[in-house]
Amino acid sequence: TGASRGIGRQIAISMAKEGAVVIVNYNGSAAKAEDVVKEITEAGGQAEAVQCNVSDYSAAEVFLKDIISRYKRIDILVNNAGITKDGLLARMSEAQFDAVASVNFKGVFNMCRHVSGVMMRQKHGRIINISSVAGLYGNPGQFNYSATKAGVVGMTLSAAKELGPRNITVNAVAPGFIETPMTAVLTETQREAALATVPLGRYGKPEEVAAAVAFLASDDAAYISGQVIVVDGAMSM
Ligand code: NAP
Repeated sequence: TGASRGIGRQIAISMAKEGAVVIVNYNGSAAKAEDVVKEITEAGGQAEAVQCNVSDYSAAEVFLKDIISRYKRIDILVNNAGITKDGLLARMSEAQFDAVASVNFKGVFNMCRHVSGVMMRQKHGRIINISSVAGLYGNPGQFNYSATKAGVVGMTLSAAKELGPRNITVNAVAPGFIETPMTAVLTETQREAALATVPLGRYGKPEEVAAAVAFLASDDAAYISGQVIVVDGAMSM
C-alpha cells in the first residue's frame, strides 16, 4: 500500500525485481503510481496501479476482492501507506489525531482483516507492516503518529500468533530517518538535529528499508515471525 512514492515506491520496485507481481496501491497520486508501474514493466517486471484509500474499510474489501478475482491469490501484503500530521500534544486537534489514526492504524487493520481469510485458505502468506522507531521509543511532536506506529507493532504480534498455524508470517519493519517526501518537509534545523542522533551519520535510503521487506517476504525468512526489524543506522539503540 502507498507505493506511489517514497519507501513504498522502492518496496514495489525491489519486490518486482525479486519476481513478485506487484499491485502498486495509491490513494491520490495516480500519475506517480503509473510512473512506478512503468519503471517496473520497462525493467521486465509485472505491475499494476490500483487506487484504494486504505482507511476506508469497505473500499479495502472491494480492492482486495478485485485483486483476488483477477490474480487468484495474494502471497504478500506490505502495509506501508502512512501519513504524518505532527504537532505538540497540548495543541493537537482531534482531526489531527483521527486523520493519522485512520490511515496508519485502521488502514493496517482494514487490509489485514480482508487479506487474512485469503491467506488462511492458501495456507501461505507474508504480511509486513511498516512501523517506525517513533512507535517504539516515542518522539516529541508525534503523539498521534507514535501511537499509530506502536499500534502497528501490537497488530503485528497478535496476527503473528493468530495466523502462524496457517503458515502465515507477520513482521514489522521500523525505519528511522529515511530520505523520502515525508521527511523532505522537515526544516534544515530539524534535519541537522535528527542527523546528530544517528551513529551511522546519514539518513537511510528507501532501498535500505525495501531490502529488509524483501528479505522478510523471501523463503529465507520462512521461520521469522512476530519480529520488528529496525532499520535506523543505530539511532534508537
Ligand atoms: P511518503 O513519501 O509520504 O509516501 C506515503 C505513501 O502513502 C504515498 O504513496 C501515499 O499515496 C500513500 N498513502 C497515504 N495515505 C493513503 C491512503 N489513505 N490510502 C492509500 N495510500 C495512502 O511516506 P514515506 O516516507 O515513504 O513513508 C512510508 C511509510 O514508512 C509510512 O508508513 C511511514 O510512516 C513509514 N516511515 C517513514 C519514515 C521516513 O523517515 N520516511 C520513517 C519511519 C517510518 P498517495 O500520494 O497516492 O496518497
